[in-house]
Amino acid sequence: MALLVVLGGGESGVGTAILGQKVGFEVFVSDKGEIKDKYSKVLEHFEIEWESGQHTETKILNADLVMKSPGIPDKVPLVQKLVENGVPVISEIEFASKYTDANLIGITGSNGKTTTTMLTHHLLLGGALNAGMAGNIGDSYAKMVAEQNYDHYVLEISSFQLDGIVDFKPHIAILTNITPDHLDRYEYKFENYIASKFRIAMNQEASDYLIYDADDPIISSWLNKNPVQSKLIPFSLKEKQQIGAWLDNNTIRMNVEHKTLEMSTDILALEGQHNVKNTMAASLAALLVNVRKETIRQSIQSFQGVPHRLEKVLKINHVEYVNDSKATNVNATYYALDGIKKPLVWIVGGVDKGNDYSELMPLVREKVKAIICLGMDNSKLKEAFGNVIDLMVETYSMEEAVKVAYKISERGDAVLLSPACASFDLFENYEDRGNQFKSAVKNL
Ligand code: ADP
Repeated sequence: MALLVVLGGGESGVGTAILGQKVGFEVFVSDKGEIKDKYSKVLEHFEIEWESGQHTETKILNADLVMKSPGIPDKVPLVQKLVENGVPVISEIEFASKYTDANLIGITGSNGKTTTTMLTHHLLLGGALNAGMAGNIGDSYAKMVAEQNYDHYVLEISSFQLDGIVDFKPHIAILTNITPDHLDRYEYKFENYIASKFRIAMNQEASDYLIYDADDPIISSWLNKNPVQSKLIPFSLKEKQQIGAWLDNNTIRMNVEHKTLEMSTDILALEGQHNVKNTMAASLAALLVNVRKETIRQSIQSFQGVPHRLEKVLKINHVEYVNDSKATNVNATYYALDGIKKPLVWIVGGVDKGNDYSELMPLVREKVKAIICLGMDNSKLKEAFGNVIDLMVETYSMEEAVKVAYKISERGDAVLLSPACASFDLFENYEDRGNQFKSAVKNL
């Protein structure tokens, strides 16, 4: 029996283990940290061998195939040793795709992946298609392949997952945008990160599609230099496209594979220019799998958005409180500042990922009346905005930040949590940060 070693005992690791066992591998799961009870119980149930708190190298180096969870960097010595020994090290998306014939829609990009994935899935379900949603979102893709029988998968795919593909080929790929992120995993070279994102199209053929943001200069210049095999389906807010989607005043127009669709941006339940783009990308994918126009229009209207992404929490004394905790980089925050049409009290800060705030400067000057810093180290923020904004307050807990925001804000303002930074200094993760914001607002 061939040995499949799974490194990392989380959602994707345990899902891969289940599928691996089902398709006939001997499976060994190894996690250097802790494996949560809910996962170790599943492994026990399936009688899959596992270890935690260590990596037993003698066993692992015997593997015929290794699935590495996306959180483990390529440069850790064990992974290097496996590669030197010629053992294939792949990602969940590569492994699971070998065992399904379903139509694959793969969605990547620096921002907008989750929103576009959920919206695309919502449109497919609206069209009564038998579609699963997986990848970086919710349940493990491999587990779904083991246990369900979907005709379509809508997959949210990170660059780390793409680094571990060999043959993975989505029939429809969506590339939402590319801005610098996670550079610590790419030798601080933006080029490496861009190349990683474009791996989504590397195995595509002429019958496949690449839907992408034509307004994104990084994507356009890369495509000029590195042509792909798939059919290019651009979307743009700026320019009319022959094929693809574009904005004509307030009307989104689309033309793809002899199908056309028009809809007013007024029907979009989600606010902000970025959500017009996400809507274009998802609707193009839905048209390509033959969801009817009328169904797409109706489903777009009923899509209520995703928690922690420009999520409206409450209105108190005519002040709107908005939770955009998922904005963990500067570009995501750009769209939040741009999208909200009110004077802003802006809660920002956390773990800086090498942020350059200069692109925010015009919006900050125009809209932000006060900045509430919420992080262990706010020096970068003070340096960037200290001379621009008169009112800057440093806070060290969400409760404090929200109380200060409440005091400062006035009728007609919005209080926006859009941190532009990671959350690990004061919070468990961005969900914890967003949830603390929502409960602090509700307790006001
Ligand atoms: P991801 O899964 O790629 O992190 P999300 O859909 O979770 O993307 O959104 C992350 C953040 O980026 C949120 O703050 C959201 O408002 C913002 N955002 C969503 N779509 C886009 C887009 N197309 N371009 C830029 N920012 C976006």
